[in-house]
Amino acid sequence: MPVNVLFSARPELWPEYEALMHLYLSDAGLDFHLATDIPADQVDYIVYAPNGGVQDFTPFTRLKAVLSLWAGVEKISGNETLTVPLARMVDGGLTQGMTEWVVGHVLRYHLGMDQHITLQDGVWTPDAPPLAQQRTVCILGLGALGEASAHALAALNFHVIGWSRTAKTIPGVTCLHGKNGLRDALSQVEIVVLLLPDTPATENTLNAETLALLPEGAKIINPGRGPLIDDEALLAALNSGQVGHATLDVFRTEPLPTEHPYWAHPNVTVTPHIASETRPVTAAQVICENIRRGEAGEPFLHLVDRKLGY
Ligand code: NDP
Repeated sequence: MPVNVLFSARPELWPEYEALMHLYLSDAGLDFHLATDIPADQVDYIVYAPNGGVQDFTPFTRLKAVLSLWAGVEKISGNETLTVPLARMVDGGLTQGMTEWVVGHVLRYHLGMDQHITLQDGVWTPDAPPLAQQRTVCILGLGALGEASAHALAALNFHVIGWSRTAKTIPGVTCLHGKNGLRDALSQVEIVVLLLPDTPATENTLNAETLALLPEGAKIINPGRGPLIDDEALLAALNSGQVGHATLDVFRTEPLPTEHPYWAHPNVTVTPHIASETRPVTAAQVICENIRRGEAGEPFLHLVDRKLGY
């Protein structure tokens, strides 16, 4: 009997994934059937995105695993109808894209690019920016994406502080964890990057209390998830000058409603959840490797801890 793989994600992605998965599953020597429509009780694996339509997993009686195309799994992790393993996406292309986006936005702040554009108005301010080694950047979240960004910034000589739930050792990065670690990190950074998952424990990581720890005028970059920041507290901190500027890619409600104060705020840059995305060429390999593992009785890669939510 073939391995039945249901693709449940945006339909326009299907032709590219179908071709790539066909290639990789054939290379793995599997007998398989890939489709966007398979009777639920015959499905072995679901390639999943929240916008693919599957919400109730109860009818999938022989399901072996759900393989997410997204790195963030907050929309499925708490789904009580899902009783089989859930793997999230760790994709080299997604990671590379995020690293480029984070480094670009950190450099924008570090080099003061916006200020120097005022040269066009005839204002001549010959203040060269400091070197990266004189600038402290903090990455909240040292997972697949946070660690890669931390490495890239450390390679540019930034003083990088990373913060995670558990203790870590990363060469060139000062690693902190726990509540006290967050206090230590925030009290000395000029640029904060959020790459935490959206879980009950990470909600409002940046709130009135933690924002007050930052040196005045600190910059915030959020490509993680909207709920990581208390929006009211951030707006208050922006208005008081406690936070100098924020670049926000993700929001509690997406698309960001047109009336939201972030759009018009002079010290906020809004980007439309484009920091990075899963790249089919590399992601299809990760999905197919997990199907191969499932069929060989080997442990799945990148399993989500459903209790922790990431
Ligand atoms: P990972 O699961 O690999 O890493 C998560 C990191 O967050 C880990 O270091 C983890 O700590 C840390 N963490 C989790 N909970 C806590 C906590 N309570 N306190 C402190 N640290 C915590 O995730 P990824 O790096 O792959 O992705 C991060 C997020 O990026 C995704 O969840 C998603 O929301 C977002 N994303 C955004 C995209 C965009 O385009 N804007 C694209 C892709 C992802 P530990 O290491 O100790 O477990």
